[in-house]
Amino acid sequence: MKTAILPGSFNPVTLGHLDIIQRAAKLADHLIVAIIDNPTKLPSIFSTDEKKDHLKTVCASIDNIGIVIFQGLLVDLVQKEQAECIIRGLRTSTDLEYENQMAVANKIMCGVETVFLPAAPEYGHLSSSLIREIGMLGHPLTDFVPPQLAETIYEKLSTYRKKT
Ligand code: ADP
Repeated sequence: MKTAILPGSFNPVTLGHLDIIQRAAKLADHLIVAIIDNPTKLPSIFSTDEKKDHLKTVCASIDNIGIVIFQGLLVDLVQKEQAECIIRGLRTSTDLEYENQMAVANKIMCGVETVFLPAAPEYGHLSSSLIREIGMLGHPLTDFVPPQLAETIYEKLSTYRKKT
């Protein structure tokens, strides 16, 4: 597999993301981790620049990886980077239903294939929204996000904690 793209929101990056990135980087000659910047969505707690910094930190030891921020259609990035495939992680059957629609649409739009990697059993329960909730409610994040980011992410989420 030459160039592959792994897109996502990474809001924030979790141990599940890192596992998928590491596995995808072994399959591809070059892996592009693409941070979706969607201006039509509500402002994200973590800015795209923060997400890029987080991903750079946790992917520092992976040689064949690039991290980019993109807006618009994923297929435009696929064509720009001449990527051979898109890689996505699958946790649940709900993921599969949505991911299947996207994969078929992307295939129709530019012929690109999507490869699904099953979530590792130990990380299948992890999502960014769960981490945001746990952090905002004041529990440490060391079991959920890469250790070198646990404090940074926790501190940021604590600023959103409701004052009682
Ligand atoms: P999106 O909002 O596009 O789904 P995410 O940041 O939630 O972006 O996820 C990015 C990619 O990482 C997706 O392919 C998603 O399925 C995968 N992913 C997210 N969490 C996990 C996890 N715990 N285990 C495996 N893959 C995951």
